[in-house]
Amino acid sequence: LTEAEQAVLDEIEEHDVDFLRLQFTDILGTVKNVSVPARQAEKAFREGIYFDGSSIEGFVRIQESDMRLVPDPDTFAILPWRQKEDSAAGRMICDVYNTSTGEPFEGDPRRVLKNALDRADEMGYTVNAAPEPEFFLFEEDEDGRATTKTGDHGGYFDLAPKDLASDVRRDIIYGLEEMGFEIEASHHEVARGQHEINFEYDNALTTADNVATFRTVVRAIAAQHDLHATFMPKPIPKINGSGMHTHLSLFTEDGENAFHDENDEFDLSDTAHSFLAGILEHAPAITAVADPTVNSYKRLVPGYEAPVYVAWSDRNRSALIRKPAARVPAASRIEARFPDPSCNPYLALAALIHAGLEGIDQDLECPDPVRENIYEFDEAKREEYGIETLPSNLGEAVDALEEDEVIYEALGEHVAPKFVEAKSKEFEEYLIDVSEWELDRYLETF
Ligand code: GLN
Ligand code: MG
Ligand code: MG
Ligand code: MG
Repeated sequence: LTEAEQAVLDEIEEHDVDFLRLQFTDILGTVKNVSVPARQAEKAFREGIYFDGSSIEGFVRIQESDMRLVPDPDTFAILPWRQKEDSAAGRMICDVYNTSTGEPFEGDPRRVLKNALDRADEMGYTVNAAPEPEFFLFEEDEDGRATTKTGDHGGYFDLAPKDLASDVRRDIIYGLEEMGFEIEASHHEVARGQHEINFEYDNALTTADNVATFRTVVRAIAAQHDLHATFMPKPIPKINGSGMHTHLSLFTEDGENAFHDENDEFDLSDTAHSFLAGILEHAPAITAVADPTVNSYKRLVPGYEAPVYVAWSDRNRSALIRKPAARVPAASRIEARFPDPSCNPYLALAALIHAGLEGIDQDLECPDPVRENIYEFDEAKREEYGIETLPSNLGEAVDALEEDEVIYEALGEHVAPKFVEAKSKEFEEYLIDVSEWELDRYLETF
């Protein structure tokens, strides 16, 4: 066993861990787990744990369904909401292997992200990422089902007593900290019932793991307070939806921020400018991955601080990418504002990173920033500035993904067609549905 693996066994002993949840995610980003008695941990490290992959969304065909989970000891954590006097449950995030070939399974989203990071590594970079997930806390009805009632009327950065949910948020933060998160800030967001918790940046793989964990912890602790936490992008029309702004930067092998250049007007290096240009160029296809639900496109509309147009800015927040003010060189970075928290964080980061690296490879020229409020531009002005529009629905986004070789290949030959198939089906189902809005509008009119 490695040192890290031995350390996990010691912690299991010390904290009376009885059960271990071995986790991974499917293509849609849903966390799956196999629970094993903690005494199996050593075996899991040495041989992996076998499971049937045929019932996991987008994984394998029936005839080749045996998969192997190999836990990553760096991801060991004790689940704070399961802790008791003399027993506890732990979890580890796993890599998925093919049992027949013994190779990493290419359908594993974590593998897809690792491939992107390998490409960065070959170019001499490590990738840092920090997300800002937003979510709503809703009340449950008598049957314990989620409603869209918030029971709070707070607004951006409001304090108690208006912010009734601050107790819950505090418990969520304690839970996250117990699981090893470095929380930077948390606040009430613009909409009623909406919250944001920011955690510290880390390498992109850890960040993707953290997003998956974050969603689980937030939901579990909200449930203890009889609240339903949702990462659905736009649960309530006509108020802000939930985004997951994603900050990105590249560091060189000797720990320098490759995005920083103090002589540049924006403190951004040529590398950063090309990376940014790569994301702009591939934005429509990335959207399919970063905003992967029908509902995502209800958020990406003008007027609610979510991006709609493909442009960047060092000031205004209507742009797709923003350059946040950096206080120190290490903090020079770009902020992609289009992802939402319903995405599979591994795939979304892989798509963003490949697009950016492609921009560097191709030495792409970065367009000028747009400093005005783009929501207020008319079509003529957008044309004059050369500003494209993001896909306006999931169907358009999936089409863009199919046409974009860079992003399609970023997902790999296993995940890309499965993802397209699943999302096309989702969109078709939506198209043939008859909504509440239609009934309200037409039932009695015609
Ligand atoms: N909720 C907004 C979005 O949809 C972001 C608001 C903010 O963080 N300033 O992206
Ligand atoms: Mg924020
Ligand atoms: Mg926010
Ligand atoms: Mg932000």
